[in-house]
Amino acid sequence: MQQHAVNLTVASVNDRQHLLIAEDIRQQLSFSRAAAADYSGPLLVLSEQRLRDNARRFMQAMPRVRPHYAVKANQDPAILELLRQEGTGFEIASSAELDTLLELGVPAHQVFYSNPIKSPAAIKYASAKGVRWYAADCTEELEKIAALAPLAKVYIRIEVSNEGSSWPLAGKFGASPKGVLAMIACALRLQVNLCGVTFHVGSQCTNINNWVEGIKTAKDIFEQLVDRGFIPQLLNLGGGYPLQLTPQDPSIEDIALRINCELETLPDTIQVMAEPGRYLVGSAGCLVSQVMGVATRDDSRWLYLDLGFYGGLIELEQGIAFTLVSQRTGAPELWSVAGPTCDAIDVLGQHYLPANMKPEDLVFIPSTGAYSLCCASDFNGFAIPRLVMVA
Ligand SMILES: *Cc1c(COP(=O)(O)O)cnc(C)c1O
Repeated sequence: MQQHAVNLTVASVNDRQHLLIAEDIRQQLSFSRAAAADYSGPLLVLSEQRLRDNARRFMQAMPRVRPHYAVKANQDPAILELLRQEGTGFEIASSAELDTLLELGVPAHQVFYSNPIKSPAAIKYASAKGVRWYAADCTEELEKIAALAPLAKVYIRIEVSNEGSSWPLAGKFGASPKGVLAMIACALRLQVNLCGVTFHVGSQCTNINNWVEGIKTAKDIFEQLVDRGFIPQLLNLGGGYPLQLTPQDPSIEDIALRINCELETLPDTIQVMAEPGRYLVGSAGCLVSQVMGVATRDDSRWLYLDLGFYGGLIELEQGIAFTLVSQRTGAPELWSVAGPTCDAIDVLGQHYLPANMKPEDLVFIPSTGAYSLCCASDFNGFAIPRLVMVA
């Protein structure tokens, strides 16, 4: 399809990475096109096959690491059901996410509660429903868990570098080495079963060292736990596995190579899991929007889509390197792309699209299956994308 040449840097078309990305976009367009034929508002087209393939590829790359899908990335029940069929467990942050899983028949013991700060009501509720594993990153949370979920198994969320993540979280969560010591002392006093370690490198992380460092730190903490009479059972590698949106982004196999190597010296008695969200669902989904209007203002050209910051593209506004692909072909031009609302924040950056773009042209945004629908609102009366599952 010629229009990819419009959007991708053609300079190094011999580069294997560029070709892989172009092929990935081509595949996503091919499953989105048909669903967009009778366009009547924004869509998120989601390929069941791609979702299954992503789960299989993750498991194949890291045989020892069980993926627990981070429900927040896209909580649609049809997606959760497909992932369950592929054998993933789940990671939650709220009672509502737990309810969605229980309604699907997911056993509570496959659900890991990784939000480091949970309300007392949420802990009580999850415990009553049979959830056993909980994250904590401070003594105050251990006190809540000890009082409200005495059977809980707790994994310590440690701080780890978020350098190289598109969506860093460092600072908001994570125990420091000193904090870990305080948690161990507190768990001894309250008889909390402290038996795991987790970290989260931030989302769309392209710096593999962050996982390696996290695992090394976890190994040290396992030794501290053993010294104090605890029995380590779980290493949770968190999420952050990136989509390959630019030629610089590592593949899951690149990341697996380093992680698997680091896991070789981990005792077999320690179960290893991860919490991929974006990786599993991101490249299975493609947003489809329509041009509402174009405007030429002196030297700049503006393109207004019926989908923007509020409609599911909050991450594009934050600079994640999604590619916009038009159905129209033509010489490329740098457009300032904006969403439909009257809010100044609703601007999506500059993108190459054909110079002759017209109202009602369709614009496809591949690899947007994660953090799109779940972050969308109908602010200003513009419809949020409708999910369409395709085989
Ligand atoms: C958001 C989150 C994830 C998922 O992150 P992705 O970047 O989508 O893989 C996993 N674990 C925790 C604790 C999270 O907060």
